[in-house]
Amino acid sequence: MLKGKAAIVTGSTSGIGRGIAHALAKEGVNIMTNGFHDSAETIAQVKSEVAAYGVKVEYNPADVSKPDQIDALMDATVKAFGAVDIVVNNAGIQYVAPVEDFPLEKWDAVIATNLSSAFYTSRRAVPLMRNRGWGRIINIASAHGLVASPQKAAYVAAKHGIVGLTKVVALETAKDGVTCNAICPGWVLTPLVQKQIDAAAAKDGTSKEDEAKKFLSEKQPAMKFVTPEQIGGLVVFLCSDSADLITGSAYSIDGGWVAE
Ligand code: NAD
Repeated sequence: MLKGKAAIVTGSTSGIGRGIAHALAKEGVNIMTNGFHDSAETIAQVKSEVAAYGVKVEYNPADVSKPDQIDALMDATVKAFGAVDIVVNNAGIQYVAPVEDFPLEKWDAVIATNLSSAFYTSRRAVPLMRNRGWGRIINIASAHGLVASPQKAAYVAAKHGIVGLTKVVALETAKDGVTCNAICPGWVLTPLVQKQIDAAAAKDGTSKEDEAKKFLSEKQPAMKFVTPEQIGGLVVFLCSDSADLITGSAYSIDGGWVAE
């Protein structure tokens, strides 16, 4: 069904994005991978993992917080694959501090990377998708796109913002064969979360294993981490014909986090 389509997955050299790149490639989708400051080894490894599904794969080093670099990413994808059918806005960063101590440059970086980036890709992708009468924009938000936690002012603001952006793009493309949805994962054990667990363990003098359990028990009733593979499965579903009329939604995949 998706064979031969072309996808951009931002931040696909690690964690959730890497899982999404695998899941789409398994369905025959050609993938433009992307990441930030990746080593040559990482790029080669990710490209060969994805190419193993028999699809075309390229890497683009765009810093998604920079509109001119997103323009170059879009152009490179059209040049490589002839189209941009699917965009998964996944690249994201975290910074944790109380609001009164939140450094201005960290606020700007989190908002630009986690929110403005999706505007930069969407404004370029929508006309291309509309022209072809088919497209999927999937924004990786977070449980923090729906509820808040302390110390995450920029992240929670950006993730709530991306849920709003999702709805606007969905309305503007509703008659065009294009859908735009958000996915709101709970805890996924990626480097982004491992860093927070390590920092909390160092602060509390506990083990990383105990701290990981504490993270789950505070937020995720299922007491298990969501996996990148499970999120990849949801992305594939949102790209399927069954999801033709699902647009403007924010899908939770969080072991019950926001149900409480
Ligand atoms: P990760 O740190 O493992 O991977 C982040 C990826 O984004 C990397 O490939 C990195 O190179 C890339 N990236 C970062 N800044 C970039 C930039 N400026 N330009 C281009 N690429 C950039 O993180 P992850 O946990 O896989 O997170 C992926 C997304 O999922 C993020 O948007 C994050 O907010 C969201 N999310 C994560 C969790 C979780 O528990 N891990 C939960 C909910 C939402």
